[in-house]
Amino acid sequence: MTLAIRAVFWVIAYLGAVLSPLVFAAIGASRPDHGFWTDFSVALGFVGLAMMGLEFVLVARFRPLAAPFGQDALLQFHRQIGYVGLAFVLIHFAISAQWSELTLANALAAPLLVWFGMAALLALIALIASSVWRRRLRLSYEAWHVMHIALALVLVVGALLHILFVDEYVSSLWKQILWGLMAAAFVGLLVWVRLIKPRRALARAWRLDRVVAERGETTTLVLKPPPAAKFRFEPGQFAWFAIGRSPFSITQHPFSFASSAERDEVELAVKALGDFTSRARELERGTTVYVDGPHGVFSIDQDEGPGFGLIAGGVGIAGLISMLRTMADRHDVRPVLLVYANRDWDGVAFREELESLKERLTLTVVHVLERPPEVWDGESGYVTADVLTRHLPPGHRRFQFFICGPDPMMDSAEAALIELGVPPERVHTERFDMV
Ligand SMILES: Cc1cc2nc3c(=O)[nH]c(=O)nc-3n(C[C@H](O)[C@H](O)[C@H](O)COP(=O)(O)OP(=O)(O)OC[C@H]3O[C@@H](n4cnc5c(N)ncnc54)[C@H](O)[C@@H]3O)c2cc1C
Repeated sequence: MTLAIRAVFWVIAYLGAVLSPLVFAAIGASRPDHGFWTDFSVALGFVGLAMMGLEFVLVARFRPLAAPFGQDALLQFHRQIGYVGLAFVLIHFAISAQWSELTLANALAAPLLVWFGMAALLALIALIASSVWRRRLRLSYEAWHVMHIALALVLVVGALLHILFVDEYVSSLWKQILWGLMAAAFVGLLVWVRLIKPRRALARAWRLDRVVAERGETTTLVLKPPPAAKFRFEPGQFAWFAIGRSPFSITQHPFSFASSAERDEVELAVKALGDFTSRARELERGTTVYVDGPHGVFSIDQDEGPGFGLIAGGVGIAGLISMLRTMADRHDVRPVLLVYANRDWDGVAFREELESLKERLTLTVVHVLERPPEVWDGESGYVTADVLTRHLPPGHRRFQFFICGPDPMMDSAEAALIELGVPPERVHTERFDMV
């Protein structure tokens, strides 16, 4: 099946799953005294709940689901659809609440269905607020992640109990079976993601073989897959790594594969940006590593072209140097332009290797430095349309472009390429900033 057909299949499946609770509820449920607004409010509540349940599926790292879209697009969708779900649930609450009878005494004496509904609503608000303002609230990624999962569980379980206590929606046996199946699918997904997948990983432990210090506070971690495993990835893809941690640990770190896809050893290029990555150089040889991957569609193997334009900012070079190393091992001589932005010359990771790769590839490297040295005849400042115009070769509109780096750089490079006439479908991005 082509990726486009698979994408259409998943979109239809998503819409079907989001709308299916409406069908359960609608058949034989409506009482004559229900007006339009009550039915409308209930419908929004059901669709909102289905969206929240499906949020777990979007981040469950199912490779068949991620293949046509890319895991980062699924994460973007997870984020955006969360706002839509919140809007649906808020409207449901605003219509259903009996505002004229709202007193403290009535609120305290409210039936269980109201308490569970309120718990779900408050969990949803806290979940979205803590995600939008995580940095402002000074929540570490790890603390946020644990909180996010806990709040999501309160939300979905609270909402399911809320429905259970609205008797008319679960009054008949077959409706109880349908709701039971939905709840079982949800629990099954959690068990698969949190227990079965990590348990399978236990039997496939990797080892850290070498730690190499690079320029720009970057560290290369050389990993060895288990002896019998034939691990393969496409250059540009990434995986989630539990390095020196249990595969059951909630927080795992996503890193791009930096090595050639044609070799058995796997390398990562890790930049010191936070608590875990800053300790990468202290990791000891032999440390156990668990790998969930490969994931992603950001790869020269997915989007073939007569040539490639690679635009990297800082550690965004990781997946792109994997593409170059792979092309060199494959004796691929298609033209490649690498535009590589860094703060200063000393911090340009892999700069010597890039020079030597020129001997094995048809490669042009353009360094763009924010703070160039006093004597510097290269590009300085940021990656702009002007910089690209000066270096893009003739025929570049048919090239495939891959951009990875800090968000502002990616936004401006993407806009510049489109301004220069590159069709948007030939511009591919990988964002490291998930939350
Ligand atoms: C698809 C993808 C590929 C990546 N490839 C690389 C790479 O090749 N090299 C590299 O150095 N970095 C890469 N990153 C970024 C890297 O995952 C984070 O820098 C790292 O997890 C930070 O962990 P920390 O504990 O040191 O920092 P923290 O202080 O905990 O976090 C710093 C920032 O990193 C992000 N982050 C932290 N933990 C996670 C996590 N578990 N999952 C997602 N985001 C997280 C958050 O936005 C956070 O604000 C990639 C990220 C993604 C999404």
